[in-house]
Amino acid sequence: MLKLYNTLTRKKERFKPISDKKVGMYACGITAYYSSHVGNMRKYTMDDVIKRVLLHDGYTVEHVENVTDVGHLAGDANTTDDKMRVSAEKQHKTMKEVADYYFGIFSKESGLLNIIPPGKFVFASEHIDEMLALIKRLDEKGYLYRLNTGMYFDTSKFKEYGRLTGSTFKKLNAQLKAGARVERVEGIRNLTDFAVWRFAEGEDMIWDSPWGRGFPGWHIECSTMSMKYLGEHFDIHTAGVDHIAIHSSNEIAQSESATGQKFVNYWVHHEFLIIDGRKMSKSLGNIYTVQHVIDKGYSPLALRLFYISGHYRQVLNFTFDALKSVENTLNGIYAFMERMSDIKNAAVNADSPEFRKRIGAERRAFFKSLDDDVNTPEALSRMHALISEANRRASSGKLNRSEARTVVKAMLELDDVLGLDLAKSTGRKAALERGVQNLIDEREIARVAKDFKKADQIRTMLKEKHHIVLEDTPEGVRWHKE
Ligand code: AMP
Ligand code: ZN
Repeated sequence: MLKLYNTLTRKKERFKPISDKKVGMYACGITAYYSSHVGNMRKYTMDDVIKRVLLHDGYTVEHVENVTDVGHLAGDANTTDDKMRVSAEKQHKTMKEVADYYFGIFSKESGLLNIIPPGKFVFASEHIDEMLALIKRLDEKGYLYRLNTGMYFDTSKFKEYGRLTGSTFKKLNAQLKAGARVERVEGIRNLTDFAVWRFAEGEDMIWDSPWGRGFPGWHIECSTMSMKYLGEHFDIHTAGVDHIAIHSSNEIAQSESATGQKFVNYWVHHEFLIIDGRKMSKSLGNIYTVQHVIDKGYSPLALRLFYISGHYRQVLNFTFDALKSVENTLNGIYAFMERMSDIKNAAVNADSPEFRKRIGAERRAFFKSLDDDVNTPEALSRMHALISEANRRASSGKLNRSEARTVVKAMLELDDVLGLDLAKSTGRKAALERGVQNLIDEREIARVAKDFKKADQIRTMLKEKHHIVLEDTPEGVRWHKE
């Protein structure tokens, strides 16, 4: 019975899907003008974990994620430039070229993090007609007004504006007024108002509209595409906490004003990843991508486990020391899986009921933790308890083959949600042994043929790549891991 924290109500709520076993989930995705950093990737990884929990609970999940390739303004004041356009101009490329390039990197890195791809990636620039239709609906209902810079949404007309922040239209506007750094758009009626369509000239990602040439606002994209694919009322919408006050709030205002019904049932907002206790920023030079992490010699799945070690609603502090320790833990888990797959003691071939019970209890506790607002740190501690239980029995020589199989089966089920690719290491040892034996045979053939160069090359390669040391003994070649 899954409970999710809902930003809308500020409570953990029992999750009830709109239609029986099918869940619609829209995830705010990348703005494709730069390489997503490890902070962004935390959000997508934890979306993936939430989705895997739902899948494990027996739901099918219709996961739609956007790619913003136009319309994301650099500032909130609606007076600044489109981040995509600025990036394209700097690189002397079209906006589409820039978007395709960064989307390519994002897809590759998501794969390395073992993120199940969303059922649909939706590009903003491919949904302009639908956006214009939604803007028209809002215009006809009297929610919009025209300024020199574009068509604006009058937030005073949406009664519940700001509900997601736990505040009100009045309070939010008063706060903005008091804030020192507010750039006021000329003619704007309320400081919380925002553009649904921006007027602009040019060719690249500029379209005709009934109101004038231009491009869509960022918020209208997510309203349009989520409702197109998931319906006007759907289950889950995810974003980062930075989006609560503006992006998500504006999506609600537009969607609910247009349709007259509730937009989303559960709003999930992810906390930020910080680095060495500080915010990631260009000026501090502490922005890392998944590729940087790989270049420093860490496995992307160690990064995945690092993300999972924190709760998605807590700030997580990234350090390379912490990642190193998580990588050791992950290797320990892989070694455990190998060890369990390799239990040869077949003397007793039935599980001891007591042992089976304890493994079952840890397994259940693992999924119970996840059902409690996806409490991954707690779930991981249950997995470690399961591992300790099995290790204790193995060390005392009591663990038999059937019990080891029970353990492997349970671990693989936990991995349906964790996504650490544990299945690989169950066959890893056998595969490694086969691979090494083939190379040793090849080296022997080279030695007999007096091709010592090749024989040495194979020995060096085995050592450097696989950390395997060969020993020539009178009984033949032996090998061991370093
Ligand atoms: P953006 O491209 O800036 O819209 O960011 C894409 C997603 O990553 C959004 O959902 C953000 O909330 C999220 N995000 C941005 N920075 C971080 C961070 N440091 N840690 C976690 N999530 C982040
Ligand atoms: Zn969005």
